[in-house]
Amino acid sequence: MCTVRPVRNPHAGHPFTAADFSDEEIAAFLDDLSVPALLLACVHLCLPEERDSILDGPLRPTGSFLNEYQGFMAPEDLRAARALALGLIVDWRDRGCPEPEPLADGMLERMMAWIVAADVGAEYVPMMAEELELDGVDTRASGPVEGASDYPVVVIGCGMSGLLAAIRLGQAGFPYIVVEKNDGPGGTWWENRYPGARVDVGSHFYCYSFEPADHWSAFFAQQPELAAYFERVMDKYGVTEHVRFGTSVERAEWDDDTARWTVELDDGTALPCRAVICAVGQLNQPFVPDVPGTFAGPAFHTARWPEDADLVGKDVVMIGAGATGFQIAPAIADEVRSLTILQRSAQWMFPNPGYHEMVGPGVPWAIEHLPFYGRWFRFLIYWPGCDAGLIAAKVDPDWPDQEHSVSEVNDLTRVMFTEWITSQVGDDPELVAKVVPTYPATGKRTLQDNGSWLRTLTRDDVELVRAGVDHLEPDAVVDTDGDRHPADVVIWATGFRPNDFLVPMEIIGRDGTDLRRAWGARPRALYGVTVPDFPNLFLMYGPGTNLASGGSIIAASECQMTLIDSCLRLLVSGTHQSIEPTQEAYDDWYERTQAEMRTMVWASPHIEHNYYRNENGEVHTLNPFRLVDYWTWTRTVDPDDYTLR
Ligand code: NAP
Repeated sequence: MCTVRPVRNPHAGHPFTAADFSDEEIAAFLDDLSVPALLLACVHLCLPEERDSILDGPLRPTGSFLNEYQGFMAPEDLRAARALALGLIVDWRDRGCPEPEPLADGMLERMMAWIVAADVGAEYVPMMAEELELDGVDTRASGPVEGASDYPVVVIGCGMSGLLAAIRLGQAGFPYIVVEKNDGPGGTWWENRYPGARVDVGSHFYCYSFEPADHWSAFFAQQPELAAYFERVMDKYGVTEHVRFGTSVERAEWDDDTARWTVELDDGTALPCRAVICAVGQLNQPFVPDVPGTFAGPAFHTARWPEDADLVGKDVVMIGAGATGFQIAPAIADEVRSLTILQRSAQWMFPNPGYHEMVGPGVPWAIEHLPFYGRWFRFLIYWPGCDAGLIAAKVDPDWPDQEHSVSEVNDLTRVMFTEWITSQVGDDPELVAKVVPTYPATGKRTLQDNGSWLRTLTRDDVELVRAGVDHLEPDAVVDTDGDRHPADVVIWATGFRPNDFLVPMEIIGRDGTDLRRAWGARPRALYGVTVPDFPNLFLMYGPGTNLASGGSIIAASECQMTLIDSCLRLLVSGTHQSIEPTQEAYDDWYERTQAEMRTMVWASPHIEHNYYRNENGEVHTLNPFRLVDYWTWTRTVDPDDYTLR
């Protein structure tokens, strides 16, 4: 008789022995860990009859907050919890690291509430359970789809979302080609190679849900590590051979008679296909303001940082300081002779003292060896930044002082952010006046700060000028106050063109409709994904999908790909030719989105400059809804919202 050995849950911890890791080595690893996530790993690995004693015991988190990994536990409780965990882990190790028993009914909800010291709410449990993947099954992976081989797909872009699309298409059996304008994958993480570039969502969450996260060297990884991550994932899933690098899509046109797209590339090739997934992102077209004058020296945009850029001993003027300039200034201040930063609007920043912290060896060890440690750590990063941030972004129309804050919670956020700034430079009123924004908190993209920005601004060789750029001279930048700033090098940290969706491509749908022309200043798509008269066209990170209050763009892209996968299945299973949203569903979505958006701080007229808004002051870039709603709406296609032909 042949017996099949059950496959161990990939998150159940790779078994080890005392010869692999002694008690002392394990104890040292535990010092690097999040104790709340560690104790939940212990709930899994201990004997089932011991589980309650951990969850009901006195050692527990007392609250949760973004990037607070220890649940506000007191130092003596952390010590005691580590000692408790060590005993349980050693016992588990000496029992042969058996795969943990499944959780009893109700235990998962208890554990979720325990780790964040609050009820997570029944409607969040399925979403967070999918994220935790405790059964070891990647439920978002599409199994093979019968008939998929007759539906070739072209994916435009091999950034984070295009790569995800390629992986899922491959798993489902769709033939696909990815067209990527850069010479490598990663999109924004390929292009943005400026000094100091790093992610500002915790790395153990800012990664694909289905990939192990045991390799990050920092809690917020730097660009080279992110670029390497996407390259590795691309190779692992066999995507590389499907990608045409260094090639741009110029045009794509739908033919209703044949129900095919033709995708035209800049090398003259035309790719016929049944569906197009457009995954070009919102932040890939650098913006440089058109100002008079010419600068004679090197001048470059941050997303086009020259490999041989030499700033050593130079007078550098950096124009703009949003999320990018904010990271560059501390990274280059030591090498330049002087740094002048022209910042038009001050930026709100979120206190994150551990922003530059490296990961200790215990973290990868625990993710690899302790059951579900990595999954609970992911949960711990995701949850506080999930929908809580929306509350502070919501406008209370009765709040009296809309110019400075939009609600009581928003005002408390303003106070907290202001205290964070003044705790660092409160003794310098001139600087405080320059760096504390007057507009409502979270109205523009909030930055993650560990103090390095303000520390840099206090240097004698660094000057923050609160003005825009007026014009260039061969050896200087003149600001909008008329002050002249001599420069050897000019850095344009002036951001992107997020409102110009799909530029510079031409996407032509039914009856010759040009998508960008049809949208005009009001780009929209049902759930950010589909558009009527553009059959079998799917957008990722499209209009109305950027996140300003929490979550991660990777998690959002996984939602979009789940919906696209569901649409493709519907298409193929009925041997249909095309799928597109109904005009009613599309219009309803747009109205609802815009109505909601008008109640959010990002639309506030008291924020003078805001890249979230278009020239009419409307916001078409962002998702104003709760992540749990977006996750629910994108879980599966509702056939009533679509027309199949
Ligand atoms: P940004 O946030 O749009 O900032 C651009 C800067 O240039 C702002 O200071 C802006 O001033 C200024 N500016 C724009 N036009 C100007 C003009 N005509 N004259 C003078 N100043 C001008 O761009 P970014 O810093 O590149 O960031 C864009 C987005 O990329 C971020 O919001 C974020 O989503 C992403 N990003 C993420 C990370 C990360 O994860 N760590 C890092 C970098 C970027 P105003 O503020 O007055 O408009």
